[in-house]
Amino acid sequence: MVIQMAIVLGIESTAHTFGVGVVKDGKIISNIKDSYTTKKGGIIPLESAKHHEIIKKEVYSKALKEAKIKEKEIDAVAFSQGPGLSPCLLVGIRFAKEISKNLNIPLIPVNHCIAHLEVGKITGTKDPVMLYVSGANTQIIAYASQKFRVFGETLDVGVGNFIDNFARYSGIGFPGGPIVEKLAKEGSKRKNFIELPYTVKGMDIALSGILTNLRQKIETGKYSLEDLAYSMQETVFAMLVETAERALAHTEKNELLLGGGVSCNLRLQEMCKIMCKERGTKFFCPEKQFLMDQGAMIAFLGEIILKSGIKIKPELADTLDIMPRQRTDEVEVKWKKECL
Ligand code: AMP
Ligand code: MG
Repeated sequence: MVIQMAIVLGIESTAHTFGVGVVKDGKIISNIKDSYTTKKGGIIPLESAKHHEIIKKEVYSKALKEAKIKEKEIDAVAFSQGPGLSPCLLVGIRFAKEISKNLNIPLIPVNHCIAHLEVGKITGTKDPVMLYVSGANTQIIAYASQKFRVFGETLDVGVGNFIDNFARYSGIGFPGGPIVEKLAKEGSKRKNFIELPYTVKGMDIALSGILTNLRQKIETGKYSLEDLAYSMQETVFAMLVETAERALAHTEKNELLLGGGVSCNLRLQEMCKIMCKERGTKFFCPEKQFLMDQGAMIAFLGEIILKSGIKIKPELADTLDIMPRQRTDEVEVKWKKECL
């Protein structure tokens, strides 16, 4: 049976953020989240999971309140199945199963990366190449031949984690991205560009060599943090823009979509806009709350999947598990019209 109208709850818990969103008939009616942060140092998976455990009920109640709905109105519960940190994913799946059993409603497992792309469609993009730049993930994704294909990706660390590591070496807490952006803005006024390795291989990039290089430079104490942050952003964002452009040329698509927390960075947005303008590609960037990890994107894709008739009955909940290493191109896209 194909469901026409639905209220779907979405739970996000892959890494630092615990989020709950609600979608009603394709419209996002609430999006509440609470994120684990540190003053110094990076993300500790077990600590982040503990954070999610403590905060989950509160985030859930707030999301229902914001959506102005009662629990019993929810038709299905979608959750991030992967990829992500196991302890964090477990909090999400267990909570989703609990809600599914209590309310006797189906479950919908969702791939986190594809959810970032699908929710981007609220901007009006139809068939984009997405530059997905988050903490752990850095991928250039586009839909082709019944799957979301990864055209390019990082060969080692995700760009968000890379920036957070750079921040950690500089004594900045987690997440480091927003502070590094401010430092880089200061550095951009001086334009004291420091040469760094530039590692693009086809449509892939590598970041760990640049990180080692930056770490060595920080340890000498000879460079200003502003100059390093500025040079890092100019170098690494140019690598991202170059590979995204190559994917656009290869797929012959004419829309670029940004997704993931690093795309909150205004300099990255600016560089992408320039590239798109030069090649006559349309540029799309959702508002900040939909760039970062959140539950609304899980609910959004969950509703699309539910409407195609795919769902897991509550009595089959035990057959579902987390998929910490699930790859974007592994996901069977059975919910798209042409695949049904
Ligand atoms: P996500 O996993 O998609 O929620 O994104 C989280 C990542 O985005 C973290 O690594 C942050 O440091 C990074 N991030 C957030 N804001 C910015 C920014 N303004 N510039 C660069 N990176 C950012
Ligand atoms: Mg993400």
